[in-house]
Amino acid sequence: MIIVPEKAIDGLVTLEDCVAAVEKVFASMAKRSARNFPVVREALGHADALYGFKSGFDRESLALGLKAGGFWPGNMGKGLTNHQSSVFLFDADTGRCRAVVGGNLLTALRTAAASAISIRHLARSDARVLGMIGAGHQSAFQLRAALAQRPFERVVAWNLHPGMFGRMEAVAREHGVPFEAVDLDRLGTEADVIVTITSSFDPILKASQVRPGTHLACMGTDTKGKQEVEADILAKATVFTDEVAQSVSIGEAQHAIARGLIAEGAIVEIGAVINGDHPGRTSDGEITLFDGTGVGLQDLAVASAAVDLAVAKGLAVEVEF
Ligand code: NAD
Repeated sequence: MIIVPEKAIDGLVTLEDCVAAVEKVFASMAKRSARNFPVVREALGHADALYGFKSGFDRESLALGLKAGGFWPGNMGKGLTNHQSSVFLFDADTGRCRAVVGGNLLTALRTAAASAISIRHLARSDARVLGMIGAGHQSAFQLRAALAQRPFERVVAWNLHPGMFGRMEAVAREHGVPFEAVDLDRLGTEADVIVTITSSFDPILKASQVRPGTHLACMGTDTKGKQEVEADILAKATVFTDEVAQSVSIGEAQHAIARGLIAEGAIVEIGAVINGDHPGRTSDGEITLFDGTGVGLQDLAVASAAVDLAVAKGLAVEVEF
């Protein structure tokens, strides 16, 4: 059995590796070659922890396994991050455990990869201004991945809590792109692409603040009740997602569906665009919205890439199991 510890992931797997792996598995999901299994998420009644696992199988890559972990709110005081996860991969032919891979950094990278893939396939080719809503842990990953998709000339950003822009400013500086904190009216007026990555339970961006032609990647809503943009935006947009079942139950689309503003059948899996089975954006004036809910197959795809790279570079730790 191969072990790729958390500390080995940085420097082993690049964002580009993750974009390639996630793009492939989204395509496989849309072809019905890959399937996510029902998600388990439970309050433990110990350490205030939320624990769960996401699992699935991709018949094309033979990635089989699960990501286990969750949220331990007291971890900060112990010098650990609150979100903890590990990926277990199994041999699809025998069921034997093939690898255990640290999942913390990989989760951040696979989430950034998803919004980047949506920008690559759905944003206007002349998109030059990037809008960021949210400035937490994930924001810098989302920004870095987005900047690689178009020759963005400027970043405008908004966050509910002030004083949190440092990590995004550093990424923008690294890329030589000006960064400015703005209000939501300006953000909507100026941005060609908007990435939302907050833990909001109320709509932040209003439909009146979104221009025709904008691409939105809504990445923060991954639980029932969360919401980042007004449901009316989805009614005006062509809505894409990683997985329709999650989009309508725990994703941004849950609210538009509940209000009868959009039909489940109108939501398009991004994999269909990647496969060439859906045209994606069809005009410069169209609003496209990617509802990125986060699926277990993304975790298995990037963990498999990490194992392959560790083996290729001679960095894999092998143990008898
Ligand atoms: P974080 O706790 O580091 O940051 C939270 C962000 O949300 C901050 O910008 C904060 O200012 C903002 N925020 C908090 N409460 C808010 C409110 N009521 N209204 C508006 N903004 C508010 O979290 P993070 O790690 O950056 O993750 C952000 C979100 O992304 C979380 O909701 C997380 O569950 C979600 N997430 C989604 C995926 C996915 O695959 N879709 C993956 C990882 C994380």
